Amino acid sequence: MHKVLTIGEVLVEIVAATTGDGFQDAQPLVGPFPSGAPAIFIDQLGKLGTPAAIVSRVGDDDFGRLNIDRLSADGVDVSGIEIAPGESTGSAFVRYRDDGSRSFVYNIRNSACGNLRPTAASEALIDGCDHLHVMGTALSAPGLGQMVMQAARRIKAQGGTISFDPNLRPEILDAPGLREALEDMLEMTDLFMPSGDELFLFDKTRDEAAAVAALLARGIRTVVLKRGADGASLFEAAGRVDAAPLRVHEVDPTGAGDSFGGAFLSFWLADAAPEQALRYANAAGARAVTRLGPMEGTSTRAELDAMLAGQAGDATNANSLKDIAAWRDRPGPSGIPSICTAHPLAIEAAMRATLPTPLPLLIEATCNQVNQEGGYTGMTPADFRRFVEDIADRVGFPTERLILGGDHLGPNPWKDLPADQAMDKAEVMIRAYAAAGFTKLHLDCSMGAAGEPVALDDAETARRAARLAQAAEEARPETGIPPVYIIGTEVPIPGGAMEEIEGLELTAPDAARTTVAVHKDAFAARGLEDAFDRVIGLVVQPGVEFGNHNVVGYDPVAATGLSAALSDMPGLVYEAHSTDYQTREALTALVNDGFSILKVGPGLTFVLREALYGLDDIAEELFPGQRDHTLRATMEQVMLANPRNWDRYYHGSDAERALQRHFSYSDRIRYYWPDPQAAQAVAELFDLLGERDLPETLIGQYLGGLYPDVRAGRLAPRANALALAAVQRLTQDYVSACGGA
Ligand code: ATP
Ligand code: MG
Repeated sequence: MHKVLTIGEVLVEIVAATTGDGFQDAQPLVGPFPSGAPAIFIDQLGKLGTPAAIVSRVGDDDFGRLNIDRLSADGVDVSGIEIAPGESTGSAFVRYRDDGSRSFVYNIRNSACGNLRPTAASEALIDGCDHLHVMGTALSAPGLGQMVMQAARRIKAQGGTISFDPNLRPEILDAPGLREALEDMLEMTDLFMPSGDELFLFDKTRDEAAAVAALLARGIRTVVLKRGADGASLFEAAGRVDAAPLRVHEVDPTGAGDSFGGAFLSFWLADAAPEQALRYANAAGARAVTRLGPMEGTSTRAELDAMLAGQAGDATNANSLKDIAAWRDRPGPSGIPSICTAHPLAIEAAMRATLPTPLPLLIEATCNQVNQEGGYTGMTPADFRRFVEDIADRVGFPTERLILGGDHLGPNPWKDLPADQAMDKAEVMIRAYAAAGFTKLHLDCSMGAAGEPVALDDAETARRAARLAQAAEEARPETGIPPVYIIGTEVPIPGGAMEEIEGLELTAPDAARTTVAVHKDAFAARGLEDAFDRVIGLVVQPGVEFGNHNVVGYDPVAATGLSAALSDMPGLVYEAHSTDYQTREALTALVNDGFSILKVGPGLTFVLREALYGLDDIAEELFPGQRDHTLRATMEQVMLANPRNWDRYYHGSDAERALQRHFSYSDRIRYYWPDPQAAQAVAELFDLLGERDLPETLIGQYLGGLYPDVRAGRLAPRANALALAAVQRLTQDYVSACGGA
């Protein structure tokens, strides 16, 4: 196998945690991260299993050790990194400005790698490698430039190959001798990988085709042009290949070009087809920008495969939920949990539970929670997307596996207005959801507005739903994944039932068939056949619900007729709302019977509240009286100060209502976690318990459900881990019921 060598700087990068201009004020920083363009490049090769080595120089300090440890862990031969006692490893401080540009404070020239020079180890590596990767920046440093040039000549003379990333802005070309050095290097180059305008460094035409033709005419075998967020192109004598950009959430663009280049070279050296090499490189560059820290975004083959598989939907322009009805007949998952919460800890736990499974993660926002006016979370759909993606980035959950859904999209938040005004608002809302890339949209228009009956008839419900579907189709991003739709005429009210639940009437099979038929007509009346083809589910009442103190469990026998009716509705599954508090067995039976989308909301924040209260009690045992108020006392104050979200829902004596405020299945307390005073109390609780190991005996007493995992050593006895685990356990019931584990 070929062995790749590169020569150049190794440094650490320290990133400002805030955006703004430069470093003239004290500010929070993140890092150190291993860095240096040649180091990132070679690390990417190492991760892909291509033999690779780097010649560099660091100080005898932690910044140097950090790099050496990372590179060797990733498979890079570090024997050529000289450790210079008494000198310091290079560093770069970087801060992003609001417009995306960067300001730097460098210590490179005067650091250990500024004095890079041949050593016995570097000579041995030049003899032992048959490919050299050259960075244009290296040629601009006098001593280093010479060393690289000589290494290139020797490796060429040995029959090896050269790849060259100019990595230079045209402005600095006028440095003495630089242009000549670049020209000399280009004469030896087999693989040239410029980015953007660097294509024109040697050609003033600014005509892409002409510049490429001139480069190929020099004898360069492959030219790969990096186009940042626009993807990449490859040119060889045999023709051109393009790679469209993968859809990613950009966190930190530094290192994309080097990860791209390392991945490309790995495939190129292995004589892969140009399409394949470009596809993987494009994925490596795209994945790199999703990680904070320059070298943090290098990828293994498995990570690139996952990235490409996750985006396969893009290539075929399909929504991964589109064929959910067919999942039932195939190996693999047959349903999907729908996580309906805006609580960051609950979302994080759902991500952790979903990460090791083959399932995508469906997270839904409800009309009252997130809308164009902010809803009760204060977030618009675009805000909600950012909010969820930020959690994904922190947790390391691939954003390409996220599906965002909008729940109960319809006039509900404005039902006190006349119908036409309420529908106008609903239309604005669904446009905002569609435009923000929510790709699962629940059309819910069964509720009457001011002056109308509480529930509308099927035909009117369907007409309004079709109107909203049309708005969504108009507003959705043109190149994005087309949304799938959920319809329904018997829709439980958002937020759960208001009182005690006794008997429940299941949806009649005929009613389900009629709902589909009237929607089909209403969509057709607006010419929306294509959108109707993307209706994947129907909300029905399968006989599950919860009240303040009781849960109605699923009865498969009672639901036999409804389940069987699915065979008359090809391409559709049922969506079950209010599945919170069902047992794992009941959830499994629901999925088996075709209720393939299982919505869960209050159940998640309910178990989270249990865990927080358990930790609250543990904190009082360990630090009695140290806080002014317990979390529980603070929540009571917060809810009493603003009864809007519980007053109408909780009934009985004062004592009964006090109990329900904290312990009701309907979990109205969930509306209060974002309250600043509540958030402060939770933060104070976590601060107090910190990172310490909590006594097992107290976990047994106050968080009994988690105790077995702690005893077995599967769960760290720490506050944050315990809170997450409580929600993760519940999510795992859903994943398991859906066949994902
Ligand atoms: P560097 O800042 O590391 O020098 P570069 O300018 O050499 O970067 P870019 O063109 O920015 O390289 O990125 C390299 C490749 O990474 C692109 O050609 C593309 O394949 C991928 N890439 C970069 N940014 C994005 C993005 N926002 N979305 C998708 N893919 C991206
Ligand atoms: Mg570059």
